[in-house]
Amino acid sequence: MAIDALSHLTDPQHCGTLVLKVGSALLVDGRGEPRKEWLEALVSEIASLRGSGQRIVVVSSGAIALGASRLKLDKGGRASLSDAQAAASVGQIALSGLWSELLEAEGLAAAQMLVTLGDLEERRRYLNASSTLTRLLEAGVVPVVNENDSVATEEIRFGDNDRLAARVAQAAGADAVVLLSDVDGLMDRDPAQDGAVLVPVINGVTDEVRAMATKGSASGLGSGGMVSKLQAAEIAERAGIALAIINGKHAKPLSRAVDQNLGTLFVPTRSDDARRSWLGGRIAPSGTLTVDEGCIAALAKGASLLAAGIIKVKGTFERGELVSILDSDGCAIAQGLSEYSAENCRKICGKRQTEQEDILGHAPRSAVVHRDQMVML
Ligand code: GLU
Repeated sequence: MAIDALSHLTDPQHCGTLVLKVGSALLVDGRGEPRKEWLEALVSEIASLRGSGQRIVVVSSGAIALGASRLKLDKGGRASLSDAQAAASVGQIALSGLWSELLEAEGLAAAQMLVTLGDLEERRRYLNASSTLTRLLEAGVVPVVNENDSVATEEIRFGDNDRLAARVAQAAGADAVVLLSDVDGLMDRDPAQDGAVLVPVINGVTDEVRAMATKGSASGLGSGGMVSKLQAAEIAERAGIALAIINGKHAKPLSRAVDQNLGTLFVPTRSDDARRSWLGGRIAPSGTLTVDEGCIAALAKGASLLAAGIIKVKGTFERGELVSILDSDGCAIAQGLSEYSAENCRKICGKRQTEQEDILGHAPRSAVVHRDQMVML
């Protein structure tokens, strides 16, 4: 059954599996201590949802914030990558202990899963993470997931748990993601401006929707803000997963959002098969192919990307790696797996199939990005 109302989020008939993302600002107070009472109330909500037959995956931030206070690091542990990594190592062990203790008090077992961007970007590792999550959920366990910040490097990390939550939802086969925020949802303009109103439902993240997001809601403790929440919504909606932003500041935030119908619900806009959803949600392309207008029109009709339509190739990539396909304004219109290395793409870009054999020294492939390996964005 489709999810088109906030009340569906806590109804196992509509939402068999829910991913709940809890940010640092909710979990950790200004002194760097866990907000235990609030968390206890949230865990009791999780327990009653589990009791009603819903499977729950928690994506929990807070490692860096908890570790930073213990190590007395400046800027909440985010002054440098090595500070963040050290803080995460110290904080993660405390964070896991906290979740485990509180879930256990409700009769639930917690499981810790720390993932890096690469674990979810590479297909084989993604499937591995996916089967672990599935097995844990079958066993009645509550997986508590975070980015493995202590080993993640600057260029290849999520950095925010919003997008991580959307990717984890794909891997867990979830129906919906709830991002607990410090505001009631997406406002139609900067919340600091007069007359800003909450947008209750979004059917597809468009440029107009993106323009509503400001970094105004970032608390300083986490790294999210509305921009990363919208990116998470886009990943989810393309994968047929609903996503809601609700206010987490109150005790029992899920019940409050549902009872008062207060929050922003992003209704999924399409439902690609599992592999395409995964491909469309990948967030770290190794290069870009800028294409001409004729090519864009052909792609929109479902054609593969041919070398003749490519104007420019950027980046370093090998055959099989993810590339972003851009229009001449630099907007990403699609992404997919390249059949050629960047070097060979450069050699054949703008050339017809018949000219390519001489350049390459062998028969060309049928396309640079085959339509089966490509997702329109
Ligand atoms: N993974 C980070 C942590 O546990 C938080 C990322 C975020 O702020 O979203 O501290």
